[in-house]
Amino acid sequence: MTTNGRTGAIRLPEMATTTTPRPADSPEVRRYNRIQRWLSLTDAVIGFALLVVLLVTGWTGKLRDWSYLGANQHYFLAVFLYVLMFSVIAKILNAPFDVIGFRLEHQYHLSNQKLRSWLWDECKGWLVSLVLGTIMVELIYGIIRVAPQRWWIIAWAVFIGLFLLMAQLAPVVLMPIFYKFEPLANDSLRERLTKLGERAGTRVRGVYEWKLSEKSNKANAALTGLGATRRIILSDTLLQHYSDDEIEAILAHELGHHVHKHILKSIFTQVAITFFAFWLINVVLRFVIAKDWFPVLSSRLYDFANLPLIVLVATILGFVLMPALNAISRHHERQADRYAWENTPAIEPFITSMQKLADQNLAERQPNKVIEALFHSHPSIGKRIAAAEAWASKQPQTQTA
Ligand SMILES: [Zn+2]
Repeated sequence: MTTNGRTGAIRLPEMATTTTPRPADSPEVRRYNRIQRWLSLTDAVIGFALLVVLLVTGWTGKLRDWSYLGANQHYFLAVFLYVLMFSVIAKILNAPFDVIGFRLEHQYHLSNQKLRSWLWDECKGWLVSLVLGTIMVELIYGIIRVAPQRWWIIAWAVFIGLFLLMAQLAPVVLMPIFYKFEPLANDSLRERLTKLGERAGTRVRGVYEWKLSEKSNKANAALTGLGATRRIILSDTLLQHYSDDEIEAILAHELGHHVHKHILKSIFTQVAITFFAFWLINVVLRFVIAKDWFPVLSSRLYDFANLPLIVLVATILGFVLMPALNAISRHHERQADRYAWENTPAIEPFITSMQKLADQNLAERQPNKVIEALFHSHPSIGKRIAAAEAWASKQPQTQTA
């Protein structure tokens, strides 16, 4: 076999049935993904720079003093005002890049959302993060005041409690703030899922149609929630354009996440990582204060001018752990894919659904290997299709149509 283009077109008959042609990524797809990466990178760099600047210039001390003034020296109100100012500054700095991101989705025909609706979503997103951030920061400093020695263990336990609560509430409280959800109306699909679940000896409480089309042309599906709120969500953009067999393959993939208990496993990972994170924050805070690196920070741990330092440690740790966390996530995705292949009658719908997803979402089929290893939570579509074909070729011939 040569790599010559012309002879490459001549295929052995058995290859033609098992191997799907693999189109290369178009320059358009590459460009879109490159810009997206630059936007996320800029977002991260701006956040990082803001934290460093606040500490080095001592401006975090100014923010603290203004907060006390505005709160009439009331501690917890002052903490809130500090978080509010911090959050406004961060939003203003990132706003130009948010606008570029919004325009990018329109340029590539991936979004049809109107400007007004987008602005409203931005406001809601900012408010939600302000509320959650305020709750967490108030709790942390409240705990530091009550138990300055063991604050980090208590704060960790409280954080885990909140995290579990949010995981449970996300599909019923958080996500409906931005999207509408309705129980899946398609009876034949619901029946297929019930059969898939029965065979696996498991049951997912619900499948919901996720009204994504008002805002995006991309397709998506996910497993969300905990306990009573556990559910599979399928975007309407997927339900409209994919055959029932293709949707069944995607449902089987999501069920695979459920059967392999991936949400529970991710929670355990979070429990371990946040324990280490809170310990590290405590150590770094005490060390930096003892060395007097930032004279603006008082020696008292409850001086909330040290908030940028806490966030900085958490941010750096998150960045360092990202490749490992993404590797775990890709492992989970491969397990869910395998589950889908083993529990659906044919492999072809899985492969065509992957092709459609790549086209519809402008996903790179063959991204740069280093970028994939560091930043991607899912294996590339090219790899997922190749793995499915390799698996199918090892199955008894009766499997393929
Ligand atoms: Zn998945």
